[in-house]
Amino acid sequence: MGNYRIDTRCVQSGYDPKNGEPRVPSIVQSTTFRYDSCDEMGRMFDLEGDGFFYTRIANPTASHVEAKIADLEGGGAAMLTASGQAAVLLAVLNLCKAGDHIVSTSALYGGTYNTFSRTLPSMGIEVTFLDVGCSDEALEAAFRDSTKLVYGEMLSNPTLVVLDIGRFADAAHAHGVPLIVDNTFPTPILCQPFRFGADIVLHSTSKYMDGHARALGGVIVEKADPSPAGAFHWKNGKFPGLSEPDDSYHGVVFADHFKDSAYIAKARLHLMRDLGPSPAPFNAFLLHMGLETLALRMERHVSNATRVANWLERSPDVSWVNYPGLASSPQHALALRYLPDGASGVVSFGVAGGRDAAIRFMDALRLAGIVTHVADARTSVIHPASTTHRQLDDEALALTGVGADMIRLSVGIEHPDDILEDLSQALIAARI
Ligand code: PLP
Repeated sequence: MGNYRIDTRCVQSGYDPKNGEPRVPSIVQSTTFRYDSCDEMGRMFDLEGDGFFYTRIANPTASHVEAKIADLEGGGAAMLTASGQAAVLLAVLNLCKAGDHIVSTSALYGGTYNTFSRTLPSMGIEVTFLDVGCSDEALEAAFRDSTKLVYGEMLSNPTLVVLDIGRFADAAHAHGVPLIVDNTFPTPILCQPFRFGADIVLHSTSKYMDGHARALGGVIVEKADPSPAGAFHWKNGKFPGLSEPDDSYHGVVFADHFKDSAYIAKARLHLMRDLGPSPAPFNAFLLHMGLETLALRMERHVSNATRVANWLERSPDVSWVNYPGLASSPQHALALRYLPDGASGVVSFGVAGGRDAAIRFMDALRLAGIVTHVADARTSVIHPASTTHRQLDDEALALTGVGADMIRLSVGIEHPDDILEDLSQALIAARI
């Protein structure tokens, strides 16, 4: 949308009503679309006509949101999915089949880690996990002839590790494969991974993009040509699904027919057609509404989280704080390079006194809600050791980087003094 700043594009891009049309996109709650003749509908199936025919493949409400998100990320095309988890799986399956291999950082959301360590191998796709801080030799050694992509989270959930995108993009490109980045925590307001060499970006839109804990969703975005590095070269011999004729679409070659939206076209026309995790139009409408205030909300999430992290660091009741925006964080240099406007709204910390004190702290909170969610307008909190990771003993917890004392705090957009007062009274209650 022209040269407008990203705050303006959050509000206005993706939908441009003509004279007399609704000011906001309508919810097109229809599974299907009517045509006058077989020929007109047939042309859609030949990928010749513009328009919609079945909401599993595409829907007007979702299309507006896809256009907005592609614009915000600086991408060429985007596709919404029913959840972030569906976006992760489809992004990988669009390039990999049984016998293929991927390289992934190990600093991942637990659901993605399960998908990569269990589900993909059960489908014949092997995964090599690497520490984000691994040596150049280890990174190089991870690649095989069958490697089809490199994967990482821009700011990992829950460990808050910043991905050195430039380094992983260079390694991926040297092996002729794309870098896929999960940009859920920064959002395009704080980081646009295409500018640093990523080729595909995805999100759980259930988090900051929706921002109100109302609509589960995901999105996959493809880099545009002209991005700084140009569109990914799908015809390098490694991706026959994109570079060779496709029998199920009358021999179309996606990389030729769709130019800089080839990857998304294949994801939509193959994976949405065959697997079907498409978003409900109403959820797309809610997501659109959330996106309008994304820039405004991220600014407040960052300022509140920065204040909370600094306050926690000074508290005698807190043994450690992890927030890449803090000068004391080992992640700070990378955060300054890739997240100069802030490191999102999620902070983790340890309650002095360990597991029991952490549980007392949680139970004493009044404003912050105990939920398995992050990146919401309301301050949310979880004690992983007694919830998401409760099957693990203290030794196993230490191995996964989740201590028994650890609290994951998703700082909301309430008044910062109210958040601090709540934390303060709960930390005092945890002392006994
Ligand atoms: N990616 C990240 C970084 C996440 O935090 C999550 C969920 O928390 C997902 C993907 C999965 O998204 P969803 O819960 O929308 O399926």
